[in-house]
Amino acid sequence: MMASSQPREWTGLQQFPVATQNALHALLEKLRKEDVNSLTVLVLGKGGVGKSSTVNSLVGERVAAVSAFQSETIRTVMCSRVRAGFTLNIIDTPGLVEGLFVNDHALDTIRRSLLNKTIDVMIYVDRLDGYRVDNLDRQVVRAIARSFGPQIWKIAVLGLTHAQLSPPDGISYSDFVERRSNALIEMIQKEVVFKKGDPQIPIALIENSGRCSTNSGGEKVLPDGSVWLPKLVEHIVDIATGSAEPIVIDKKLIDGPNPNKRGRVFVPLIFLFQYLFIMKPMVYLMKRDMESEVRRRPSWEVLAGQKEESPSAVEPVQTEEY
Ligand code: GDP
Ligand code: MG
Repeated sequence: MMASSQPREWTGLQQFPVATQNALHALLEKLRKEDVNSLTVLVLGKGGVGKSSTVNSLVGERVAAVSAFQSETIRTVMCSRVRAGFTLNIIDTPGLVEGLFVNDHALDTIRRSLLNKTIDVMIYVDRLDGYRVDNLDRQVVRAIARSFGPQIWKIAVLGLTHAQLSPPDGISYSDFVERRSNALIEMIQKEVVFKKGDPQIPIALIENSGRCSTNSGGEKVLPDGSVWLPKLVEHIVDIATGSAEPIVIDKKLIDGPNPNKRGRVFVPLIFLFQYLFIMKPMVYLMKRDMESEVRRRPSWEVLAGQKEESPSAVEPVQTEEY
């Protein structure tokens, strides 16, 4: 089912600039203090938004196939890396959209291939350089909630790729980021009914391109000067050590509540409802109608007769002829 590699030593970590390595080690230390020795991160989103590239950026190795023209990822792929007793599992998935619709089959396949896994964090990837939130986005968000339970959005990070962009004239980079992320966050909160007091979904800016600017330490930076990779990992660590429950993908979640069994309980209730609120009132009304008809028959017949005799307003031509 799922191509999953044996946990390998996380050599990619040493490929990062020293400053990034230090930041990541500090975060791993934070996890160790909280007794978290493994993390499983699920990456979801539409096709071509940069999921596979983000997985590669995070691991620091080319572990997932990236394609400019179509989603090369046709299977769910888990990549595991071990570093000083800590295991990072990161799961790349195929895009969730086919043509203009959410591919529910793809989502179901992803879910089934994750049987018995526990998801600590979900990165929902979209592009920063998008200008609208449309019905398809809403569908995707809802489909994820349907497949994994709405709770999955409580362990979500919104990852926005293509973050090295020049915003349109007259709007600053930070304003652009705020507008784009707010539009997406508001949509998600509307679709997945968040309660007041629920924590905001954290936003992580991502730039996977090899042409991303770097600072003097060789770290990848965004137009606002921020170093994005450690920030993304920080959000992941915050969620993993936070209060939201991880999502356990067990058989119950996959098979869902049996609709036949669940429905059967209601069958007698439905009959009772139909009898009390439909059959009884109907019989009553019919009886009343029949009674009143008998009482009123003479006047009714008179009325009908009058109608026939009176000139018809619908046929003025005929009236003129007279
Ligand atoms: P996926 O279908 O969501 O897995 O997307 P991919 O990771 O395969 O990326 C699709 C295309 O977008 C590829 O050509 C990537 O090189 C490109 N891409 C992904 N992320 C970024 C990014 O942050 N910046 C830029 N400039 N290109 C990106
Ligand atoms: Mg991909």
